[in-house]
Amino acid sequence: MQRMMLFERFSRSFRENPSFSKLLVVLTVSGSGLVAYSEAQSPGVPVATEASEANKKKRIVVLGTGWAATSFLKNLKDPSYDVQVISPRNYFAFTPLLPSVTCGTVESRSVVEPVRNIIRKKGVDMHYLEAECFKIDAANKKVHCRSNLNNNLNGEEEFVVDYDYLVISVGARVNTFNIPGVSENCHFLKEVEDAQRIRRTVIDCFERASLPNLSDEERKRILHFVIVGGGPTGVEFSAQLHDFVNEDVVRLYPDVKDLVKITLLEATDHILSMFDKRITAFAEEKFQRDGIQLKTGSMVVGVSDKELSTKQAKSGEKSVMPYGMVVWSTGIGTRPVIMDFMKQIGQVSRRVLATDEWLRVEGSDNIYALGDCATINQRKIMEDVSAIFSKADKDNSGTLTVKEFQEVSKDICERYPQFELHLKNHKMHTLVDLLKESKGDAVKETVEVNIEEFKSALSQVDSQMKFLPATAQVASQQGVYLAKCFNRMKECETNPEGPLRIRGEGRHRFRPFRYKHLGQFAPLGGEQTAAQLPGDWVSIGHSSQWLWYSVYASKQVSWRTRVYVISDWTRRFIFGRDSSRI
Ligand code: FAD
Ligand code: MG
Repeated sequence: MQRMMLFERFSRSFRENPSFSKLLVVLTVSGSGLVAYSEAQSPGVPVATEASEANKKKRIVVLGTGWAATSFLKNLKDPSYDVQVISPRNYFAFTPLLPSVTCGTVESRSVVEPVRNIIRKKGVDMHYLEAECFKIDAANKKVHCRSNLNNNLNGEEEFVVDYDYLVISVGARVNTFNIPGVSENCHFLKEVEDAQRIRRTVIDCFERASLPNLSDEERKRILHFVIVGGGPTGVEFSAQLHDFVNEDVVRLYPDVKDLVKITLLEATDHILSMFDKRITAFAEEKFQRDGIQLKTGSMVVGVSDKELSTKQAKSGEKSVMPYGMVVWSTGIGTRPVIMDFMKQIGQVSRRVLATDEWLRVEGSDNIYALGDCATINQRKIMEDVSAIFSKADKDNSGTLTVKEFQEVSKDICERYPQFELHLKNHKMHTLVDLLKESKGDAVKETVEVNIEEFKSALSQVDSQMKFLPATAQVASQQGVYLAKCFNRMKECETNPEGPLRIRGEGRHRFRPFRYKHLGQFAPLGGEQTAAQLPGDWVSIGHSSQWLWYSVYASKQVSWRTRVYVISDWTRRFIFGRDSSRI
């Protein structure tokens, strides 16, 4: 008893008294001790000075606590800002592991990190409000928010926050394509709560199918799991469910195990269409071997509480399938607050917010948008071709020498990444090669081109433009990029580091955002994963599974979640998955 109290007192003083924890860690002479030291530093600034200092500071309001927002917050180091984070979710969720949460391979608390842990570690003033932004008022630089704890605030759950800079990173919502019955009857896999609900429902189905007095027909219906959408999430969930059934359920529910059926529906001709063909083929074959029923070219047209209606894309043939549970994973849609904001700033008939290459929302000052709610509107080279020509033609001769172009070519490559990509894809090194291709082999280094020839040489370049996918990889790289811009805002104002302004004077303040693709995984179950790495390098099998384990362990946002996730994996290897319905 006495020992218990001693421990409690020790633990509390450790948490409450930062200097005590510092002293303790100084005594711990080890590398990990140093890590703990930096994490134990307290934000402890007295409130009064904090308020007066904050008055002078420029305020950044960050909407969201997802991939984009968290990587922004983690990388923002400049103490001259006052940062206000607003999100209805007071934690960050590691979405790539959500499919693992659905069957209990990983526990839900292992994939989340409280946002207050993330912001308290900084030397920057950061505050969090648990609320949802429902209106962005760009004209008055305000955001209107509503607390989602609305019972406790005496009806005053709405409030307004001013900003100097606004960072919009609210992500996307699920897309039901307005198909009747989908939102009422299907499960989604977007949030941690969704994954927890799926886990409970899967177990529910097995328990329900094991009850007495049911016909075999009814048991089969209850144990029919349908997944709509053959993208990475739908495929991974199907694989997880199949593993769960084969590794754990066969032991736990021997009477009903043979009645289980998993069906994956995909509207196009192939699953995993964003991956290399070899991966698609391997996944389709593996699923067939595993007994996962794959129905491609099949569109869902309606869902009732026990049946799902489909239509074959080619033949138009309609059919109905009874189900026990449907998981809907077909893509993403726009959040209402973003739709409203797009209307305000004249970005109508778009799916997501358009930004420039510096992640600034087009047509708005000091507003940035990143992650799933935004897309970069890459400027076309042909829109600026005349301006590029006159900028490069320094002697105003009306013709461009190769030397003249070479002087601006670095800036052009930086400003228009499609130019560099075009040269690379056509195995060319410089503009001379491009001119050679468009004018024939006679072109020499000394040749001069006029504007028409210049235009025709560049005419195909814009076909290389690509939209970035809505992935965590893109969102987190954008967060890092934007934080670095904010960290060097003043420095780059006097010393701009970006490319030449083609239509204006001087240089852009920053280099434009560039995405670096690091590859992608598709876990296929049975300890096998497909990996597609840069340079179209494809690897499938058990070795990629180990790569997957190590990449996902290393990408965790904190040591805490890293330890949790690794111990969950270990626990699952030793004891199997937990099938308690809690
Ligand atoms: P999110 O991470 O969705 O964050 C949005 C944030 O905004 C949330 O905190 C939300 O609560 C908050 N918010 C919402 N509305 C408001 C509002 N009105 N006001 C204020 N805040 C608001 N990508 C990969 O690269 N690799 C993968 O393996 C991968 N697997 C995935 C698996 C699943 C199951 C899912 C669902 C997604 C997966 N993704 C993966 C995609 C990836 O999760 C998204 O691209 C990424 O989350 C986008 O980041 P974001 O910051 O834009 O949005
Ligand atoms: Mg000239």
